[in-house]
Amino acid sequence: MRLAAGDTLLVATRNKGKTAEFRAAFAELGVKVADLTEIESGRDIPEIVEDGDSFEANATIKAKTVSLATGLPALADDSGLCVDALGGAPGIYSARYAGEGAGDAANNAKLVRELRAAGASVPADAAGGAPEPLSAARFVSCLVIYKPGGDTLCAAGEVEGIITGSPCGEGGFGYDPLFWLPSHGRSMAELTVADKNAISHRGQALAALLRLLDASGTEV
Ligand code: IMP
Repeated sequence: MRLAAGDTLLVATRNKGKTAEFRAAFAELGVKVADLTEIESGRDIPEIVEDGDSFEANATIKAKTVSLATGLPALADDSGLCVDALGGAPGIYSARYAGEGAGDAANNAKLVRELRAAGASVPADAAGGAPEPLSAARFVSCLVIYKPGGDTLCAAGEVEGIITGSPCGEGGFGYDPLFWLPSHGRSMAELTVADKNAISHRGQALAALLRLLDASGTEV
């Protein structure tokens, strides 16, 4: 895959936070980043049905749909929370764990409810100070670039933590207040944005993707 300086990479999102994160990362390669709100043809993207059975499959569906509709190389991400005591759930269903359209509060409440109902717990010596440690878990992120012609590149990142029954912190989003980082002695929602990006699943996937692009001969 060659992505040359001056190329435009279209991010399959309308989330300005994600766009800013990707724009900053690709700036060092001279690659311009646009999102669906910034291109004329962004309005014509067909509805994206995320019916894949893995993070990679769903990220590929998003990137491919957007690339085929616009003729531009497209980048998509898919991410979620995998909880050991729930056999890896909610996984690819993280955004809608408590039902279609459910918000963060309902998803988080269901997660704690399910873990307590299952009698899940983590021994104190493995919990890194987490209040009410319920299960080991990890955030997973998968990034896919799809280029017109069918060339794809995929990179993944993970961060390990402990699900706590007592939410901590006001930052971040989603499951962050329940995701305790033993290495930091605090929850993901208690980190600054910069500190979260430095260790997060998305940050690690992005670093891996940039290494792959570099190794595959990105012209800069
Ligand atoms: P998406 O890949 O951005 O659609 O995220 C899927 C879902 O996974 C989100 O709605 C959140 O519930 C969860 N999630 C993904 N990344 C994070 C994160 O960094 N913190 C907290 N929750 C996350």
